[in-house]
Amino acid sequence: MNKQKLLDDIEQSIKQNKVCNKLAKTANNLVFGDGNPDAEIVFVGEAPGKNEDLQGKPFVGVAGKFLDEMLSSINMKREKVYITNIVKYRPPNNRDPLPEEKKEFLPYLRSQIEVINPKIIATLGRHSMNCFLPDLQIGQIHGQPKRIKISSIATTEGKDYSVIIMPLFHPAAALYNGSMRQTLIEDFALLPNVLKKITKDN
Ligand code: URA
Repeated sequence: MNKQKLLDDIEQSIKQNKVCNKLAKTANNLVFGDGNPDAEIVFVGEAPGKNEDLQGKPFVGVAGKFLDEMLSSINMKREKVYITNIVKYRPPNNRDPLPEEKKEFLPYLRSQIEVINPKIIATLGRHSMNCFLPDLQIGQIHGQPKRIKISSIATTEGKDYSVIIMPLFHPAAALYNGSMRQTLIEDFALLPNVLKKITKDN
């Protein structure tokens, strides 16, 4: 089955199932995700901000510009990766997503990831990291790839599969913080080697 069609179906089911209907009512657009359905790396942020809500695409504001710069610094084209968020509607005034909002969207994020089947999930910020590594602190494990098992919930019918989580700081948090910014750039620069190593091991 065509991966883009499967992703479109997940996007439709978010609307049909009225996921986080309260957020949907205050948002302009559902920001489902953007990029290559065959991507080897999926970036997962928190939730759309103002620009993302207006354009219906993730990471298109200042944090997105910084993400684009980091992608080009490692010679990775934005069109080759896939970018999404845990929560797919903008929370009012860009507040942090609530635990129940993250919980409601999580099965859809997991299905989305399962369809794409990336080698690496690069989490942007602690909210995203804690979806996959709930007990760890980003300050302690940023830049350290961790292999986790995910129990399939959709396409591979109950089979476990494993994927590498690369915990990264959130570009918006790092943007104006000199040392965090430098750390994020350095952690980001590790991605090509992590990918190469996985490709070699497989
Ligand atoms: N911050 C996020 O977490 N996601 C976006 O899409 C934009 C900013």
